[in-house]
Amino acid sequence: MQFKKSLGQHFLIDNNIKNKIVNLLQIENDESVLEIGPGDGALTEIIYKKCKNLILVEKDNRFAELLKSKFPDIHIFNEDFLKWDFKNFYNLKVVGNLPYNVASQIIFKLIKNIERWKIGVFMVQKEVADRIVASHGSKDYSILSVVCQTFCNVIKAFDVSPNCFKPKPKVVSSVVKFQPKSIEISDFNKFFNLTKAIFYGRRKKLINVFKKNPFLKFNDEFINHVISMYDENIRVEQLKVEDFVELYLYWAYDDVKHY
Ligand code: SAM
Repeated sequence: MQFKKSLGQHFLIDNNIKNKIVNLLQIENDESVLEIGPGDGALTEIIYKKCKNLILVEKDNRFAELLKSKFPDIHIFNEDFLKWDFKNFYNLKVVGNLPYNVASQIIFKLIKNIERWKIGVFMVQKEVADRIVASHGSKDYSILSVVCQTFCNVIKAFDVSPNCFKPKPKVVSSVVKFQPKSIEISDFNKFFNLTKAIFYGRRKKLINVFKKNPFLKFNDEFINHVISMYDENIRVEQLKVEDFVELYLYWAYDDVKHY
């Protein structure tokens, strides 16, 4: 079969790495596992033997057909995960060697549906993994860092060389493990929009971002509150993940007043 570059098709061929990824999921045999982008089934074959209920979402119909013939008794959805409806699936463990061009979007969709799953193990480009786990003040600190770390405990487990794939990608990959945590934020979109507005200027002073960002308007009362909470010279990249949550809770508490 021809590989489709547009679908990020780099297939894992290293058995040691396949096993290491699946082991991070710590699957019990009565659990349900969702695999995103199973391709020709490199990870699927191992997971299949370990769990009761396996759900696959694969966009490429050639691979979806192949998987249906290999695994006739599991749920296979020939769909774009970004449009896929979670249906009645809950309490999932989620895994995927994610297509690089949409990896962040897939992660945002999963976080938006955080009540559906309890552990996630994903292979992404190393650069993306570095952003997922970056701390405030570092060059990789971004919207992705704040959103992932607000909703989950995240750890970078290990790097994977391009030699472990066919065809070989140009970049190193990393495996990241996510564990959802309980938090007070019920509206993902609102938190995402606030984070995006603040990151309008990661090197700018926080106060200026609230006054000048093009995405959201903040009233004087909110801006005065921010001035009272933070050093007037603090810059966006210095804000900790907890600060974003605190700002969100103050801002979102009273829609009418702050929107
Ligand atoms: N799991 C296989 C492995 O580890 O060898 C394949 C991984 S490959 C990096 C990414 C897979 O995701 C491909 O099979 C590709 O067709 C599929 N894919 C790409 N975009 C997708 C999307 N939006 N929704 C679901 N699957 C997608």
